[in-house]
Amino acid sequence: MSQVERQQWDVVVVGAGGAGLRAAIEAREQGARTAVICKSLFGKAHTVMAEGGIAASMGNVNSGDNWQVHFRDTLRGGKFLNQWRMAELHAREAPDRVWELETWGALFDRTPDGRISQRNFGGHEYPRLAHVGDRTGLELIRTLQQKIVALQQEDFRELGDHEARLKVFQECTVTRVLKEDDRVGGAFCYDRESGRFFVLEAPSVVLATGGIGKSFKVTSNSWEYTGDGHALALLAGAPLLNMEFVQFHPTGMVWPPSVKGILVTESVRGDGGVLRNSEGKRFMFDYIPDVFKEKYAQSEEEGDRWYDDPDHNRRPPELLPRDEVARAINAEVKAGRGSPHGGVFLDVSTRMPAEVIKRRLPSMYHQFKELADVDITAEAMEVGPTCHYVMGGVAVDSDSAAARRVPGLYAAGEVAGGMHGSNRLGGNSLSDLLVFGRRAGLHAARYAAGLAARPVVDEAQVDAAAAEALRPFSAEGLEDGATPENPYTLHQELQQTMNDLVGIIRREAEMEQALEKLAELRARARRAGVEGHRQFNPGWHLALDLRNMLLVSECVARAALERTESRGGHTREDHPSMSREWRRANLLCQLADPSGGLAATDPVRGQIDLVRVTTEPIRPDLLALFEKEELVKYLAEEELYE
Ligand code: FAD
Repeated sequence: MSQVERQQWDVVVVGAGGAGLRAAIEAREQGARTAVICKSLFGKAHTVMAEGGIAASMGNVNSGDNWQVHFRDTLRGGKFLNQWRMAELHAREAPDRVWELETWGALFDRTPDGRISQRNFGGHEYPRLAHVGDRTGLELIRTLQQKIVALQQEDFRELGDHEARLKVFQECTVTRVLKEDDRVGGAFCYDRESGRFFVLEAPSVVLATGGIGKSFKVTSNSWEYTGDGHALALLAGAPLLNMEFVQFHPTGMVWPPSVKGILVTESVRGDGGVLRNSEGKRFMFDYIPDVFKEKYAQSEEEGDRWYDDPDHNRRPPELLPRDEVARAINAEVKAGRGSPHGGVFLDVSTRMPAEVIKRRLPSMYHQFKELADVDITAEAMEVGPTCHYVMGGVAVDSDSAAARRVPGLYAAGEVAGGMHGSNRLGGNSLSDLLVFGRRAGLHAARYAAGLAARPVVDEAQVDAAAAEALRPFSAEGLEDGATPENPYTLHQELQQTMNDLVGIIRREAEMEQALEKLAELRARARRAGVEGHRQFNPGWHLALDLRNMLLVSECVARAALERTESRGGHTREDHPSMSREWRRANLLCQLADPSGGLAATDPVRGQIDLVRVTTEPIRPDLLALFEKEELVKYLAEEELYE
């Protein structure tokens, strides 16, 4: 019999980034007693690192903008693989979510006539990103936290307890979603500081855990992003959608090695920065793909004129969607035209006065000055692709954010799949968090309120979760006297494998090799051992993250091997074109052992099954927003006839 403490809530939100906080606010406002749990300090999430802005078609800078144009851009960016209903809801609701933030106290940069200012970003037809310099995420999180505090103060006035209806558990990690039969019953958690286990019982759990970037060596992501929510969903029986689509942001720092991968915001290009190779050439003009030819400038002069006169000129190709720019940089470096440290040059110093650069891009100025001793007002930055974002994620219902197959489970933000198709446009994540965070919180609260009886989590499940979490202290398979595996070494080998073999350009033989290496790492991970005790033990935390990273990496590798085409964030050297036939195909990853166990799985065969499903046809009124000539480039033959 376990001695694990249990607490009862209506909704448990796992993750305190933008999606989690917006979900928690909504659930609490619906009357649900809501717990938020996060792995790091409250406020430290990827959302806080977001720089460029929130995409919403408010039309403040160009009145031609509206939700239909935003929808079109999002589908083009995602190469038409987006769950179209999500893209529609996102485009329609994003402006309200931004205005709502303002009523909660957010202070955005302004236009000269006092409206929320909006900036240009890759793939967006009009200036669309509401921003606060290049620190937008900080303002977003600050505002949502302030709203949470306001709700807690309200509860204190009414009930005498700040945490009666909304409580934050910080520096605590969820390792399992618990269930009663098929439906959700709560979450198994550990406190990172004390190592203490506890259970948050609830009929609804919202996953808002962000991305998976830490499975790659060069990444803009920080330590928390080990794909936990993706793995928790899989283990609970919910499938993941299109995990092959991983975004490599074109501009990460490449030098010095200690900061390789740290993001250089797209705002640098949105505000006029240009990319050059070692010969000084603005090479992006050589990389405009056919599907975008009519929409981008064909000469430097036209591209430059666009910044002042966007109605009569086309945008420069530095502002193509991220997948196109990342591939172009990769090709230039491979062709021997890279910068000294294996990137290309990104220059704003010759494009804007120093004081404008410091005002519009303050974080970038400090980042390069402090980390690389480069003054971006006087010299070019060196940049190259970095793993940034995962488009794949938990397969959800578009309207309610409910995960498939597991009643009571919801997912929102980066952990959810579908919204961005095969490639996300910059700025569309922050708006996604707000739109679908709200929807997840709303539906999770309604579901919990509508249940006749609360689910009951049996002791056996709690005991099993505790035993799983404790395993690194008594590493298995060591009867023969072998030494335990070091979890840190396993992390490094996994990251190197994914980077080298399932990275920006993919090849069949390399992905097969990656799957073999993952099988080996899985076997070794079972022997991952740690010393010491449960009080703040980083080695133990790394060992626990491994299960999730291995599961998610296998999903990415299997799906990438299966999809024999190149589309968005998935580029196959052996299948370089986009196939119209593949547009209708979604790949679902599910656990091979439906009972949710991992131990019984054959290490070579792997832990993941892939299922191919056909997408739902795009609603005709949404298709009518595009020219027929454009649709012909994307849609499958039978869809065009339909
Ligand atoms: P996150 O903000 O990533 O939060 C995840 C939360 O889950 C954290 O609180 C974490 O502690 C918690 N968590 C994870 N696992 C567990 C677990 N097992 N148990 C408990 N808690 C857990 N997008 C834009 O739209 N515009 C931008 O300008 C922009 N700039 C970016 C700049 C950088 C440097 C980066 C890295 C990303 C940027 N993005 C941007 C992308 C965007 O910031 C992220 O996609 C988004 O913030 C993800 O939000 P989220 O709420 O889904 O998760």
